[in-house]
Amino acid sequence: MSNIITLLCLYIQIQSKIIIYLMWTVIGKYPLKNLYDEPVRKEYRKLQVDAMPVVETFEKLNYTELLKEYLTKHGKPLKPINRHKSSLPVANNIVCPKCGAPHSYIYRNNGKSKNVQYLCKVCEFVFGDKTDYFKNAAIRCPHCNKVLERIKERKHFYIFKCKNNNCSFYLSNLRNLTPQEREQYDANPQDFKLHYIYREFTIDFKPLSKETPVMPNVDLSKIHSSPHVLGLVLSYYVNYGMSSRLVQSIMRDIHGVKISHQSVINYANAAATLLKPFVDNYDYPLTNSICGDETYIKVNGKWHYVFFVIDTVKKIITSHHVSPNRDTVAAIKAIDDTLSKYKQIPENLNLVFDGNPIYLLAQHYFARHGIYFDVTQVIGLTNDDPVSEAYRPLKQVVERLNRTLRRYYRTTNGFSAFNNCQNYLTLFTTWYNFLRPHKTLKYQVPVDIHEVTKLPNMPARWIEMLNMAQEYILKHQAA
Ligand SMILES: [Zn+2]
Ligand SMILES: [Zn+2]
Repeated sequence: MSNIITLLCLYIQIQSKIIIYLMWTVIGKYPLKNLYDEPVRKEYRKLQVDAMPVVETFEKLNYTELLKEYLTKHGKPLKPINRHKSSLPVANNIVCPKCGAPHSYIYRNNGKSKNVQYLCKVCEFVFGDKTDYFKNAAIRCPHCNKVLERIKERKHFYIFKCKNNNCSFYLSNLRNLTPQEREQYDANPQDFKLHYIYREFTIDFKPLSKETPVMPNVDLSKIHSSPHVLGLVLSYYVNYGMSSRLVQSIMRDIHGVKISHQSVINYANAAATLLKPFVDNYDYPLTNSICGDETYIKVNGKWHYVFFVIDTVKKIITSHHVSPNRDTVAAIKAIDDTLSKYKQIPENLNLVFDGNPIYLLAQHYFARHGIYFDVTQVIGLTNDDPVSEAYRPLKQVVERLNRTLRRYYRTTNGFSAFNNCQNYLTLFTTWYNFLRPHKTLKYQVPVDIHEVTKLPNMPARWIEMLNMAQEYILKHQAA
C-alpha cells in the first residue's frame, strides 16, 4: 500500500515538473517568476569567516620625550640609524605610528620581503607598511602575528589580509589543496582564499549606545473615535491579522462604526509611534538563550528582510529590525537591539543563527568594541551534525515566529511605505510580547503586566498598553 502511495507521489512530482517546464516554454521565464512570487532564496555567498585577529592597542608616545629620557638615562643621545650602503632605504614619509619617530630612526625589519615591516629604534614598535593605526591599534594575524595589510575598501568595511607567505594558516590551506586545485591556484590565485582575511567594519554606529528614545508627538485624542473603537481596530488588525479593508467592513457590518480603511492604517501608525519607545526600552526579563533568523516582507513592491531575534525561553521578541539588505550591517543592528535590552550582557550569552556568515562578521564587530558573546550556527535543514541537532529546537522557535508573521502579513498585501512596515512590526511585537498567550508558557503572555492582563478583553488591553506608552513618553519628556 505504502509503495503505491510513494509511487503516486513521485508521479505527481514528475507531472508538476513537466507542467512547470511546459509553462516555462510557453510563457517564458518572467511570468513564471511572478507566479511563484517569493524572493529568490539566494544562497548567501559562501564566505569563509576567519578567526578574530589579534588587536594590539597601544598608547601614543612622544619620541622627543623618549629621546630626552634616553639621554638622561645613558648620558648620551640615541643616534639616528647609520645605514649601510647595501641596506634597504626607508622612505621619508615613514613615521613610527606609536611614538612619531621620523624615518631616520626606523629599520627595515624583515629584509627584502615584499611584506614590508618596520622596527622603531626609539620605542621598539614593529609595524607594517599599509596598516591603519588611526585607532591606536595594530591588527595582527592570529596565526603568525604579522601586521595585516589593508587591501580593499568596501562601502561598510575595509578588508585586511595577512600577506605573509610563511604564515601557518596559509601554508596549511595550501597543503590541503588537491593536486588539481593546486594547478588552478597557480594559474588563477585570485579565485582562491588561502590567506588570512579580516573585515573591519567602518559603519558610523556606536554599539549599545542606548540613546534617549525619540519621543513622538502623537495625540490620540485627535482620533475621531472612542478609545474602544481604537482598541477594536487594533485587535482586528493585529491580533487577527485582518487587512485594513476587512477591518473597515467588520467595523461597519458588526459594530455599526463607519471608518475608512485608510483610517485603520492611520490609527495603526499613530498607535505604533506611541508604543515604540515603550516596547523598545521595556525592562525585559531575558535569559541567555537567544535565537535569530531573517524572513522577508514586501515594501513598496520590493522584498525586505525582517531580522527577528527572540528569547527562546521567555518567547520575547528582542529585535524586529527591517532592512532592504540581508547584510552584516543589518545583522549588527538586530544584535544591538537585543544586547541593549540587557542591563548587563550575561557572560555565557549564546546567540543561535543560521549559517549565514554575516552573523560571524557581526560577532567580530562587537568583539572589536569589547562586547563578547558566542554565536552558534545551525546549518542545513536536517540535523546532520550534532550542533544543529542540539540547537534546532531553539531555531524552530524563531522559525515559528517567522511563519506567524508571514501568515499575518499576507493580509496586508505588502506595505506601501517603509514606515508602515516598521509600524506594523512594532504592533506585531507589542502583541507578541505583551498580549498574546503562549502555549508553551502555559497560555501566559511572555511579559505579564498585571494592569494589562487583568482587563477582561483585548480592546481594553490595547488601550491600557497605549496609556502606559503615553505615560512612559511623558515621563521621559519631563526628564
Ligand atoms: Zn616608535
Ligand atoms: Zn598570518
